[in-house]
Amino acid sequence: MEKKNSLVVLGAHCGDAEIQAGAIANKYAKAGWEVTFVHLTPGEKGNPPHISVEDYAKQKIEEAEKVAKILGGKSITLDYKDAELTFNDEIITRVATLMRQLRPKVVITHWVNSIHPDHALCPRIVQAAQLKAGLPGFDLDGLPPHYYGIYHSENWEDMDGYEPDVFVDVSDEFDTYLEALSNYWFIMNSTSFRYYDYYKALGTVRGCVNRCQYAQTLKMPIGGNVRKGKIIPGLEI
Ligand SMILES: [Zn+2]
Repeated sequence: MEKKNSLVVLGAHCGDAEIQAGAIANKYAKAGWEVTFVHLTPGEKGNPPHISVEDYAKQKIEEAEKVAKILGGKSITLDYKDAELTFNDEIITRVATLMRQLRPKVVITHWVNSIHPDHALCPRIVQAAQLKAGLPGFDLDGLPPHYYGIYHSENWEDMDGYEPDVFVDVSDEFDTYLEALSNYWFIMNSTSFRYYDYYKALGTVRGCVNRCQYAQTLKMPIGGNVRKGKIIPGLEI
């Protein structure tokens, strides 16, 4: 039997992938796609005062599993440390190997500019892993090569230069998205940022522009909008 279509949303910390593209992911999950949220680190250092960093890591991993289930996907949290991500061959190989296992058509991840260094590293890691996963010359646990497309998605910490290229109508998924998000302690209780209010308002504003109730947006990789051919795309002669 043919394997299901696969979509991966990869974020730095548990919660990033879902706030950025959780409603889009839910739309594809409902259409029968295999959806996986990959978190490079739990994001454990935003721990509330009464919970240790170690306990908060466990809590966030559990929250991520609950949220992924509501959105129709599964959650994979890697064990890198919050605010300590580095760009090196080890993490690229690990992500490339995971992508050869999950075999996504597309990986959605952070935009390239961010006030958080962990976020800014994600698209670099995803891009380097794209090449490594796709090149047959790399033996990654004997898995067959796999090449995937990349989109960036919208996160309040990554807005420098983020102008959407794609608006996706998620009106039918937005209630499920908000319900899912409410399972994260930080989204409902953070005193440093009003996550829930922001993402509900963002979906509304993007929906207005997309002439629907709610929308989430994506951005093509730099250079991804370039078309090469004989005529102006869509303008037949
Ligand atoms: Zn984050």
